[in-house]
Amino acid sequence: MADTYTIEKVKKMAGIIFKNISKIYDNGLVAVRDLNLEIEDREFLVLVGPSGCGKSTVLRMIAGLETVTSGEIFINNRQVNDLPPKNRDISMVFQSYALYPHMTVYNNMAFGLKMRGVPKEEIVRTVNRAAGILKIEDLMKRKPRQLSGGQRQRVALGRAIVRNPQVFLFDEPLSNLDAKLRVQMRTELKKLHSRLKTTVVYVTHDQVEAMTMGSHIVVLKKGVLQQSGSPLELYNHPANKFVAGFIGSPGMNFFPCRIIEDGKEYYSDVGDFKIPVNHSLIEKIKDRKVQEYTMGIRPEGFRVATKQDSDRTMAYKKCGRIEAHVNVVEVLGKELALDLSSGRYNFTVVIDADASVRYYENQKLSLEVDIDKIHLFDGKGEEAAIA
Ligand code: ADP
Ligand code: MG
Repeated sequence: MADTYTIEKVKKMAGIIFKNISKIYDNGLVAVRDLNLEIEDREFLVLVGPSGCGKSTVLRMIAGLETVTSGEIFINNRQVNDLPPKNRDISMVFQSYALYPHMTVYNNMAFGLKMRGVPKEEIVRTVNRAAGILKIEDLMKRKPRQLSGGQRQRVALGRAIVRNPQVFLFDEPLSNLDAKLRVQMRTELKKLHSRLKTTVVYVTHDQVEAMTMGSHIVVLKKGVLQQSGSPLELYNHPANKFVAGFIGSPGMNFFPCRIIEDGKEYYSDVGDFKIPVNHSLIEKIKDRKVQEYTMGIRPEGFRVATKQDSDRTMAYKKCGRIEAHVNVVEVLGKELALDLSSGRYNFTVVIDADASVRYYENQKLSLEVDIDKIHLFDGKGEEAAIA
């Protein structure tokens, strides 16, 4: 049995399936509603959503720390609804690292193995191996209070790794780190995953973290799954207005609009400006009774038009054009974020910082919109995406 604990030695299979899972707490609060989800073996899945949307509840149900109210959870094709946490072969890393303060780093990592009666030599080998992977060999004799936040985080990871679990659960593990370290640890966690090849469910409220880390992202809102897909699917084809606004930074701009016909062309009419829409889009909405929609344009979906562009645009009607007033210019680095207004609308545009062109507050700008990049949402209820 001892070799079960050797890192990278035993390859375990562990897909996770949620089948109609709901969780209602004793106070009647519905934390998760009818969740259906398949997490593939060895996948790095990121569960993202605002605070209170049920992310930790989902993790705790996988770990067995929380019962399910209805539905079924399968790990590696085995229904685990009633399986106690200690038999699920899962390691969880929390935001508050939960290290034992009176134990050295070595003992923090070794403790779980000792409790399981793993032979001493095996423990030494496993802990040292994990310390090597995490580059904390020099810290083994220290106590947690003698470590920086990033080092504590590594120890918490080490403690999880030495167990060689079939599934890793991470609950906002980087939230307590400063921005730079957080970016560094993201990369390290991804490297760790490609090395250990274990199924990971990673929870964060930070969409940037989700986009950069996940190959599969699940967006949750008020306990309801909104969309499940790759980062680019979520970015390019958000299922609804919530996902559209949540994924991407700065967020998508929204404009209430009506679709109108003018001659042979169709336009999305915002009142203060109108933008031509593709005929393919018109096909999708032609049988709808509603006239009210929300148009979404990402900050990076605009371009500053030159005089020549504008003439060409007008001639071919391929692009939408908006006359805008510059309120604020913000330098992001190689890009600029412009806070603009057009009529009663305020919106954000991100453009490449071109050293030869300067933008000023209170300046007037002509913008072009690539009409293939326009999103349209149903104006009612969940505001599902039409395109
Ligand atoms: P997240 O991790 O996304 O912030 P949680 O899963 O912690 O969200 O919580 C989801 C909802 O369930 C929240 O409204 C929270 O207040 C509630 N909740 C969490 N734990 C309990 C509990 N033990 N009893 C009652 N309500 C809870
Ligand atoms: Mg949480």
